[in-house]
Amino acid sequence: MVGMGPGNWEQMTVRARQVLGEAQVVTGYKTYIELIRGLLNNPEQRVVVSGMTQEVDRCREVAELAGQGSSVVLVSSGDAGIYGMAGIMLEVLEQEGIEVPVEIVPGVSASAAAAACLGAPLMHDFVTVSLSDLLTPWELIRKRVRLAAEGDFVLAVYNPKSRQRVSQIEEVRRILLEFRSPDTPVGIVRNALREGQEVCISTLSDFTREQIDMLTTVIIGNSQTKILGSYMVTPRGYEL
Ligand code: SAH
Repeated sequence: MVGMGPGNWEQMTVRARQVLGEAQVVTGYKTYIELIRGLLNNPEQRVVVSGMTQEVDRCREVAELAGQGSSVVLVSSGDAGIYGMAGIMLEVLEQEGIEVPVEIVPGVSASAAAAACLGAPLMHDFVTVSLSDLLTPWELIRKRVRLAAEGDFVLAVYNPKSRQRVSQIEEVRRILLEFRSPDTPVGIVRNALREGQEVCISTLSDFTREQIDMLTTVIIGNSQTKILGSYMVTPRGYEL
């Protein structure tokens, strides 16, 4: 299970590249496979692309191939173990009773990639929250956002908004405004560290006016986060 990082080859680990080069079969969601297509030039290798909602089927296919003795790479964007495919893959292997050697290759997750584009907003305690309510009830997501707001955590928001799912990010903004100043810095990074990168720093009161979609990670500062020139910084607490 390989985390390919944010999408640009330069941001991929050496181990990820090695494993991608050696595998007999490489499989993953088609957008991610397209991003690394140029690396997959081993003529012996089979590349299998799949659609977004076929995660379980994809894992069953990988399990079957691995069970037959093939070396198979399942690609996730960012890190495979952070809202990626590592968990479901291990669950499927367990359910099917297939015992094969497994390697999980970590990658640069979107929160780290977006933070690097913005400055240093994750210097203190932070939580990641995914606003996708396909697999998690919205009530639970909302509760976690509220507790993170109350705990003065920086929030890194994954899956912030899709074409069908537009109200959740507005609700996140309203919850945060109960606990934090309207001037709290909010960073919005689209296509972090890959082609088409867009970086914007806004405020808690205004950030939902910016373009936010499924290619975007939103980082909401804590009560201490500040803007230094063009950077968003959450102080660690050092005395200067
Ligand atoms: N496993 C991935 C996350 C998958 S969830 C990881 O560790 O990064 C998909 C969400 O990740 C997207 O909706 C978006 O919020 C975020 N994301 C992934 N790649 C991104 C990038 N290059 N720039 C900004 N956000 C990204």
